[in-house]
Amino acid sequence: MTVVTIIGAVGLLVQAVIGLSYFISCIWEKEKRATVFAFLQFLGMSALFIFYLHLLRIGFFDTNIGLGILIAGYVVVLLVVFLLVKRTAPNQRALKGTKGLIAGEVRRHDERTQVFARNRSLRPGSEQYKAFYMKYPEYEEYDRRRRQLGGPLGHPGAIDRPHQGPNVAATLASQSIPLHLSTSDAFNPEPHPEFKGKRLELSPEEATERVKGYARSRGADLVGITEINPLWLYSHRGEIFHENWEDWGKEIKVKHNYAIVFATEMSFEMVGTGPHSPTMIESMGNYAQGAYIATQLAHFVANLGYSATASHLRHYDALMVPLAVDAGLGELGRLGYLITKEFGPRVRVGAVTTDLPLIPDKPVDIGVEDFCRICKKCAVCCPSSSIPPEKDQTVVNGSLRWKLNEETCFEYWGKIGTDCNICMRVCPWSHARTFPHRIIVALITRNRVARRIFSVMDDIFYGKRPRSKASPNWAQFNMERAG
Ligand code: SF4
Ligand code: SF4
Repeated sequence: MTVVTIIGAVGLLVQAVIGLSYFISCIWEKEKRATVFAFLQFLGMSALFIFYLHLLRIGFFDTNIGLGILIAGYVVVLLVVFLLVKRTAPNQRALKGTKGLIAGEVRRHDERTQVFARNRSLRPGSEQYKAFYMKYPEYEEYDRRRRQLGGPLGHPGAIDRPHQGPNVAATLASQSIPLHLSTSDAFNPEPHPEFKGKRLELSPEEATERVKGYARSRGADLVGITEINPLWLYSHRGEIFHENWEDWGKEIKVKHNYAIVFATEMSFEMVGTGPHSPTMIESMGNYAQGAYIATQLAHFVANLGYSATASHLRHYDALMVPLAVDAGLGELGRLGYLITKEFGPRVRVGAVTTDLPLIPDKPVDIGVEDFCRICKKCAVCCPSSSIPPEKDQTVVNGSLRWKLNEETCFEYWGKIGTDCNICMRVCPWSHARTFPHRIIVALITRNRVARRIFSVMDDIFYGKRPRSKASPNWAQFNMERAG
């Protein structure tokens, strides 16, 4: 045996082991279709390895033909590896963050026009109701119809009737946390009397290390810093939770120049059930965690002697996704969510804005824009056709994006009684970060060819319209056991 033939054997053994790890990963992910394909793939890879050993044993590679085939095999493998691993030209637009997406005049978003604020805060017959629809008559008929379906989640859990009760109870339990933390003394904290009037002098480097470390210690999975682009702050308050109607329509002033933005991972298992009720438990659980982290982080910064405001489910001063993009947490995907390298779109985002001087992070290019151009899976699977299937983004309010139709999406939520999350579930970036998926993510974040190959592979292994999965027993929604 020569070194050349040994390298070939080791290479084939490694690919068979990766095939085996993918097969195990699919079983763990409870992906039935992918498990079958992964098993066939593993069989093929193992057969190739065994066949190679057989050829080695009979001395085939000692013949001229055998050596020629072996060398040709090496050339093909090296070429494929080079094509998949080589870092292709970066997306300069992504590296500029949201500045790279701005293509015209951007008007700040008015929170009053946001679907949740319209549904939750505007009460028919109230002064605000009349004032709003006088200004925006185009929303009135839609909002009237949508209100008949109920609040943001319609009649919660409706899709899983008659067994939705426990999952609705769990959702409401998590939802209670952000509400508890939505008073101004919670989101806009004063320092403890011990620290009142004192300011700790910290270098931006030290302050950055401390706030990031603290956020992580409280449960944030990803943390980044950005200088705030005022375009992403809401212009006027529209969400009212404590009868503080004097705040409705109040201008939101730019008072901070930095944002500490963080994300928490949503459970792969729970999101996998979307659009069924476990996915809404997971969304609300993550919002609760976000409120918990943001509130403590704001108090931490206030006790350092600086101004800080927490942004979470029950109090936003800004749009979270653009801030997260600028803070280098990921890129904006076709489905309208942030897509991160670590967890794909399976995250929820929160933030603290502050005047504490910090070191901003740089936006990242992880290949999302290019991947979304070829993938379109979320658009294909969206039951309300709310995600545009066109190849390229369009300019909406001065910035480039695939514009989600919030009205049709929100209407679908109202019908099924959950926040759906099908788009999040089917996104190829959402797979659990098992060893083989980590390899795939490493390749697609750096290489265009890999994106094209793995986009097709995802359709083959998981299907063009992947099915939702069973939930953990404690959150089951079909209640087959109950009969
Ligand atoms: S499903 Fe595909 S197109 Fe949609 S966000 Fe994910 S990668 Fe982009
Ligand atoms: S949440 Fe559901 S309805 Fe809304 S865009 Fe995603 S897939 Fe479509």
